[in-house]
Amino acid sequence: MPEETQQDSCCPPFGGGNDHPHEERLGWHEYFMSVAHLISRRATCTRGHIGAVLVRDNNILSTGYNGAPSGLPHCNETTCKIYRSTHPDGTIEENCVNTIHAEINAIAQAAKHGVSIKDADIYITASPCIHCLKVLINVGIKTIYYDKPYKIDHISELLRLSGIKLVQIHVEVP
Ligand SMILES: [Zn+2]
Ligand SMILES: [Zn+2]
Repeated sequence: MPEETQQDSCCPPFGGGNDHPHEERLGWHEYFMSVAHLISRRATCTRGHIGAVLVRDNNILSTGYNGAPSGLPHCNETTCKIYRSTHPDGTIEENCVNTIHAEINAIAQAAKHGVSIKDADIYITASPCIHCLKVLINVGIKTIYYDKPYKIDHISELLRLSGIKLVQIHVEVP
């Protein structure tokens, strides 16, 4: 998307002076990933805090974080209920029974409010698990932007077969 052309003189510098004359404007990828990190702070599963943002045409369509279904006790109020599953490669994966993952919650919010997410991209603070990836493929996500890698070897074959793109965008979280 082309940068907006705005005259520098339209807004006086905050506080009457420009303390950061060389401060770079946040790019779109950093902007949406930073929003995903902020949203992750609403997460309630003590296993990990993840945030997700669905975006199309540089516009936020929906957001989600990991936590219990609406109205049910959250892990930070009770405890995580961990279950283990064995991946076909023999590695053990642990998940929390209480929790809906951030990506799925973002999709659920869009569905609840009738927002089309076809051909959208998603920004997630961690790469998706294989279960969420299957849903992301089916709702028509084009590109998954993630910050922290999570068991990417588990999803490599599905990425290759589906053609969905996975791109790392790392942002420094203050
Ligand atoms: Zn939990
Ligand atoms: Zn997941």
